[in-house]
Amino acid sequence: MNAPDQNMAHEQNTGAQYRKLWIAGDWRQGQGGYPIPVIDPSTGREIGHVDDASVSDALEAVSAAQDALASWSATAPREKSEILRRCFDIMMQRKAELAHLISLENGKSLKDAQGEVSYAAEFFRWFAEEAVRLNGELNTAPSGSNRIIVIHQPIGVSLLITPWNFPAAMATRKIAPALAAGCTCVLKPATETPLTAYALADICTEAGVPSGVINVLTTARAGKTVSAMLHDPRIRKLSFTGSTEVGRLLLREAADCVVSCSMELGGNAPFVVFEDADIDAAVEGAMIAKMRNGGEACTAANRFIVHSYVAEHFSKALSEHMSALKVGPGYDAQSDCGPLINAEAVERMGELVADAVQRGARVLTGGRAADGQGFYFPPTVLTDVAKDAEIGSVEIFGPVAPIATFTTEEEAIEMANDTEYGLISYIYTGDFARGLRVSEKMESGMVALNRGLVSDPAAPFGGSKQSGLGREGSHHGIREFCEVKYIAASW
Ligand code: NAD
Repeated sequence: MNAPDQNMAHEQNTGAQYRKLWIAGDWRQGQGGYPIPVIDPSTGREIGHVDDASVSDALEAVSAAQDALASWSATAPREKSEILRRCFDIMMQRKAELAHLISLENGKSLKDAQGEVSYAAEFFRWFAEEAVRLNGELNTAPSGSNRIIVIHQPIGVSLLITPWNFPAAMATRKIAPALAAGCTCVLKPATETPLTAYALADICTEAGVPSGVINVLTTARAGKTVSAMLHDPRIRKLSFTGSTEVGRLLLREAADCVVSCSMELGGNAPFVVFEDADIDAAVEGAMIAKMRNGGEACTAANRFIVHSYVAEHFSKALSEHMSALKVGPGYDAQSDCGPLINAEAVERMGELVADAVQRGARVLTGGRAADGQGFYFPPTVLTDVAKDAEIGSVEIFGPVAPIATFTTEEEAIEMANDTEYGLISYIYTGDFARGLRVSEKMESGMVALNRGLVSDPAAPFGGSKQSGLGREGSHHGIREFCEVKYIAASW
């Protein structure tokens, strides 16, 4: 079957989807305006619609979450845990169906979408386990006059805002700890990938999450709707994943009602290859770090910083691997790399490559979008990238790998840290002591040492500098949805 035939067969199988807002355990028509179209980035065609929430719809969702809060926060930890565990089970049973949906609305390869479903479901399992381990503290005051009791209570109604690049995992990474802590929530997914969010609402409902505990709404006016919710004093938590630019704006909005904020923002990850590294392993890791999700990941390797002694070897091998990738519709099982999210993203890749080339970079593979339907950009490798090229200072968010070189360890560290972002750094070296020494000097919340992947529900995910505030996953993740209460007690 050629690509258009495949798309047609695929659409007949899927059928267009139309979703209303999920508020108070009910599907409600949005009052905002016309339904928002959902686009298949592989073809540029519409595959469905979702309702557009107005400000009053959003405030009704907040009311629903507030009404459900007392009962959910008083639910026994074991019961919450078992409901979350059922969310995991149902999600895994629907893995194929969900992966297809993610791939359809986001464009990522089926392999990446399947990986995302497993990763996303794992947050339900992990936080099902954490729900029964929200331990407090008991101490004697140094004066001996009283006891210091510390408990962790649910912070309250939480606003969860997610991006389009991991439509399932970014939502479950927030929903699961929020519910485990005893909070209720309003989820506002990105309008590019809303169908996955509504599918998660189906799963949670089937698993036994009571009405009003999770509310999901889509809106074409994110700024106005989110601002109204952040100025409603019933919202006590904002958990946001998205760009640093929007994150900064929301921090300002959240200040008015002093809303607690957890922010997972943009990245500009350095990928440092030392001269003593195993180059085959480094290239293998680079392919994962750069090309998982077609480069549309906050953790994506953004700047390859390679010792001049091994730069030619590394660049050649990376370029061979990149050019061997099969680009095509994400839901075609043969594709390694799907389309980008939209036409603007393709245009942006072209601009970044052109700017780098104008400043002296060489294109080893890729470099230019082909004409035709869908939002494709070929896997691209650039070498000799100048320090002042724009591609080195911005989040690329696409399949382009720029390579620059260094000669000393100090220079590599300085180049790696020369960014306002601080989400993750990758290091490849054969000397473990050097690996740890450099890891400690990296200004990032996470370091991948001789690995191309760090994401793990059991580990604290998050960034330093302008990549974010707080951590998701691990035992830290549930604490983001808790308020610490100290009770001074005499007995
Ligand atoms: P984005 O910031 O444009 O949008 C994120 C969410 O915010 C969406 O739901 C969007 O509708 C909403 N939004 C946009 N403008 C808003 C406004 N004015 N007020 C309120 N809400 C608004 O990001 P994106 O393009 O969807 O996602 C890509 C970005 O997300 C990248 O920068 C990436 O690095 C980041 N990201 C970070 C992590 C992490 O864990 N650190 C994970 C995934 C993605």
